[in-house]
Amino acid sequence: MEKKNLDWSNLTFGYMPTDYRYVSYYKDGKWDEGALITDPNITLNECAGVFQYAQTVFEGLKAYTTEDGHIVCFRPDLNAARLKDSAERLEIPVFPEDRFVKAVEEVVKANAAWVPPYGSGATLYIRPYIMGTNPVIGVKPAEEYQFRILCTPVGPYFKGGAKPITIRVSDYDRAAPHGTGHIKAGLNYAMSLQPIVEAHQQGYDENLYLDPATRTKVEETGGANFMFITKDGKFVTPKSNSILPSITRRSLMVVAEKYLGLTVEHREVKFEELKDFAECGLCGTAAVISPVGKIVNPNDGTEICFPSGMEEMGPITKKLYETLTGIQMGHIEGPEGWVKVIE
Ligand SMILES: *Cc1c(COP(=O)(O)O)cnc(C)c1O
Repeated sequence: MEKKNLDWSNLTFGYMPTDYRYVSYYKDGKWDEGALITDPNITLNECAGVFQYAQTVFEGLKAYTTEDGHIVCFRPDLNAARLKDSAERLEIPVFPEDRFVKAVEEVVKANAAWVPPYGSGATLYIRPYIMGTNPVIGVKPAEEYQFRILCTPVGPYFKGGAKPITIRVSDYDRAAPHGTGHIKAGLNYAMSLQPIVEAHQQGYDENLYLDPATRTKVEETGGANFMFITKDGKFVTPKSNSILPSITRRSLMVVAEKYLGLTVEHREVKFEELKDFAECGLCGTAAVISPVGKIVNPNDGTEICFPSGMEEMGPITKKLYETLTGIQMGHIEGPEGWVKVIE
């Protein structure tokens, strides 16, 4: 397979169109057989459900080249299951989970020339999504949909190593009382844009959202779950039904327990407790783990600095990161079914 002539080691986390995308149309109550197409643009009616009532959900996963030259992706069955949950919540017809996995394989194979080579630090980011396409003006679900997958090569999330970030406690309730935080949908991200811009203006990298009912418990950031390491080496991660169930976080829970022998606690985490933790990280597909150096509550001036420091990942966070990326890149044998070989 002749690779595209890109400067693989200098890619950013941005979009560039590749040769193929996948599309399946839903009409008269069923999904058609689906196909690979070449046109990156979509033409829709001005009144399409996606434009008027934001009826759209998405997923995100990556394809990697392993050391021995295979193209693989990581636990795509979990993305299929989560897209199903998101779709149900927005009254979008479910795209069958087995077909989702096959479509990912098909579109990655067709774009094999765009999968960054091993060692470049880059990966092929895969973005499946579904949207309501027919005109709707009364508030109701659309009757026609498109399931699509686009792919784009992306650079490593951290250039020159993972430097810990600073987070502020947000006044905004991201996980609204009507409970949409646990689905992966554009509407959650649209609601997070103002807090993100504000945080950046104030010199912070991200927002920590508290539970909206009591504002005492840690939920997540705009696009990543939290993980903490206690001073006695336990792995702690918040439990809440308004947190998006991160596949990276769920995988790290297994890595922590089964590979590193840590005790894992998946439970409510009070903001009060943060000062007692030794390490803090954010987990998600894009960065795997971003270390957090400091959390600030601008309202009362609270500042929590994690002892692992502002310079690098804490030692246990680093072991978790290396083990999980080792499994993804094929140096370490993963649990059954985690790594799906595409080619
Ligand atoms: C995608 C996402 C995450 C991370 O999930 P992964 O499956 O690990 O990529 C966390 N929080 C939110 C809100 C997300 O949308």
